[in-house]
Amino acid sequence: MSDKVIIIGSGLGGLTCGYILQKSGYDVTILEQGTQIGGCLQCFNRRGAKFETGMHFIGSASPEQTMGKIMRYFGLTDSVQLSALDHSGYNTVSLAGDKFRFPNGREAFLERFGGYFPHQKDALVKYIEIIDKIAASSALNSLTSERRDVIADTEYHTLSINAVLDSLFTDELLKNALVGDLPLYAAQIDKTPFSHHAYIMDFYNNSAFRVVGGSDAIANSLAASIQQMGGRIVPRKQVTKVCCDDIKATGVITSDEEFYGADYVISTIHPNRLLEMLDTRLIRPAFRNRINAIPQTASCFAVYLKFKEQAMPYMNTNYYGYAAATPWNCENYTAENWPKGFLYMHMCSQDKAQYAQSGVLISYMNLEDVAKWNNGKIGRRGEEYEQFKREHALRLIAEADKHHPGLRDAIECYYTSTPLTYLDYTGTEAGSMYGVAKDVSLGAAGRVPYRTKIPNLLLAGQNVNSHGMMGVIVGTIVTCSELVSAQTIYKQINDSNR
Ligand SMILES: Cc1cc2nc3c(=O)[nH]c(=O)nc-3n(C[C@H](O)[C@H](O)[C@H](O)COP(=O)(O)OP(=O)(O)OC[C@H]3O[C@@H](n4cnc5c(N)ncnc54)[C@H](O)[C@@H]3O)c2cc1C
Repeated sequence: MSDKVIIIGSGLGGLTCGYILQKSGYDVTILEQGTQIGGCLQCFNRRGAKFETGMHFIGSASPEQTMGKIMRYFGLTDSVQLSALDHSGYNTVSLAGDKFRFPNGREAFLERFGGYFPHQKDALVKYIEIIDKIAASSALNSLTSERRDVIADTEYHTLSINAVLDSLFTDELLKNALVGDLPLYAAQIDKTPFSHHAYIMDFYNNSAFRVVGGSDAIANSLAASIQQMGGRIVPRKQVTKVCCDDIKATGVITSDEEFYGADYVISTIHPNRLLEMLDTRLIRPAFRNRINAIPQTASCFAVYLKFKEQAMPYMNTNYYGYAAATPWNCENYTAENWPKGFLYMHMCSQDKAQYAQSGVLISYMNLEDVAKWNNGKIGRRGEEYEQFKREHALRLIAEADKHHPGLRDAIECYYTSTPLTYLDYTGTEAGSMYGVAKDVSLGAAGRVPYRTKIPNLLLAGQNVNSHGMMGVIVGTIVTCSELVSAQTIYKQINDSNR
């Protein structure tokens, strides 16, 4: 009989853990509180248009690149169609009207940014060398279980992004342009480690793609594969308790009082939510306090735009617009100066589409702004909340329209989400976009471990290691290597690519 693994949560973390373990002979059951699987891979449909709620684009996914190889291993190559973002400018950053386009490829980047900032050419080479060194230190990059240069990663893990940029560059505008995509990781000045920036820069600089039809295709494909291999995914099953005896976890209980026995439990939900479900002396108060004290990444307000028929040419870049000449500190706003910045993306309904059917505008928002409506039920929070959302949607659209004249007129209708939406749908602390924040000042105290004092309770998902397509999968491999050796997993990935 195979060992039973219960996985809490069917986001990218839960599904990738489920895939690896079911493939390796474990008997996997994934329990998901929502009606839809996928967590931040979920999409929704309104009036014939489809919208993405979380993941919008992925990197390093050409067949010969790391994510391309990983996607082949997870059986995603044939079931998920990718559409390349503009190679000559997959990201566009606008700082107080100055625009910077990020091309794919190391040399293209150096040429473009060397052209923007000729007096900083040498420093740009040094910057890219550091990014390369950090990226090469990841085991995933080389697809072997041995890390190549642990020192590179560790060194830049303790230095903030701005500290490293200050040490390399003298031009303030260049420093700000380089971090124009910081909403992708909710980076904070003096806090977020440079290594975090480096991994993301490397990930997208290699190549950048949208998922045609929406990133729920990733969730659906992983779920189908797990089920074909004999695993189970059960939606509408909210785990409310992890049961333990004196030495280990014995299973979980769901909100409808069902007990699922387990040899192993893997939690992919926010660690604070997991701790609320653990009533055992095996978890010490000091551990609870440490985890609960880790800061969270910012939350957001999003406006999902449905465009009029053939009214909006498809924008094959991601656009980061800032009123000021800096992308930093947009999470610290006032009622008057919100939104200080925004991220604007189109959904890719088909490869090489001429027109966009839908798009999204995202700006930071703190839970406190909407906390007073937290007690209401989803969709029934009252007119005052609806008014708040309308006002903020119109402000965000007006701000984006300054950057993209004609945007407002091209909108047929729109929908919104607030920090309460993320709280409701993913259960992250304070509706944080990417879960726990990285903070150089916290060192090891700021990390969520994948192992606990309960020997058969493991953690995975975006709070362990990092968020996003690459960050979550790196965490998945580390967590699963407790049950299947890392060498075996890397061998399977390499074999599937032969
Ligand atoms: C706005 C936004 C944009 C993003 N854009 C990108 C992008 O472009 N590229 C990229 O790579 N990444 C992006 N990300 C990040 C990426 O989507 C996430 O890091 C990743 O999908 C998280 O996966 P996860 O499994 O860790 O968590 P989640 O996706 O949050 O999954 C956790 C699951 O657990 C379930 N759950 C919670 N509590 C319980 C319970 N008690 N019982 C049962 N189930 C439970 C939840 O319902 C959820 O389905 C974005 C995220 C956001 C929010």
